[in-house]
Amino acid sequence: MMGHTHALAGAVAWLGVVPFLADYGMKMTPGEIIAGSVVCAGAALLPDMDHHSGSIAQALGPVTKVLCKGVAWISGGHRHATHSLFFIVFMMFGTDLLAQYFRPGWWVELFLLICLGLRGVGIHVPEREHFNVIINGALALGLTYLMIGMHFAGPGIDLFMGHYYLGWAGLSVGLGCFMHIFTDCLTPEGCPVFWPWQKRFEIPIVPRTNGVVEKWVVTPILTLGVVVLAIRTSAGGFAVNWLQHNRG
Ligand SMILES: [Zn+2]
Repeated sequence: MMGHTHALAGAVAWLGVVPFLADYGMKMTPGEIIAGSVVCAGAALLPDMDHHSGSIAQALGPVTKVLCKGVAWISGGHRHATHSLFFIVFMMFGTDLLAQYFRPGWWVELFLLICLGLRGVGIHVPEREHFNVIINGALALGLTYLMIGMHFAGPGIDLFMGHYYLGWAGLSVGLGCFMHIFTDCLTPEGCPVFWPWQKRFEIPIVPRTNGVVEKWVVTPILTLGVVVLAIRTSAGGFAVNWLQHNRG
């Protein structure tokens, strides 16, 4: 799947899930919902950091290239460990622990996720790599700065009967990784979902990356999904505010 397909799938999943989270005690501000969709879209590209020549590896020039080479070496190459349930759980709790106990670490991760997201949705000029790296880095730095004051570890979902609360940043990163693996499973190559078991699982309804189905069916549906859900989320917030201020 193409980068923008993954990023869109991440944003759709986040905006679709957010309304249900309120029932589990995770009531979020509009700013947190928007930040969450950016984080989730970026995280939906994370598993492809195991690919040193993909577009993700070019997001920050040599920095992401070296990083991707390292990830590929540790994970066993493209579509191995990073395309599994293990990776989803690892990233979800790893992010949550960073957001709770080591804020600067989370800010670095957030910066990287935004860089990946910007690259994933296709913000780049062909054959102008230095320029792209500078623009991408500057935009990501600005957005990270805007989000730095947010509270990422809470409100949280109660996972073990009051013993562990999973904050929204961790949940958003986990959901993004899940959506990546889910969409990759729709291609004939599949993913080793239960890694270290090497068996690949697939439901091959998208026969070719960047082919007709992905371009003319998957991408338009996901784009429409982002627009509809974004309007519904913001309109929903507006309706709640209006009711609160105009009752009785
Ligand atoms: Zn992938």
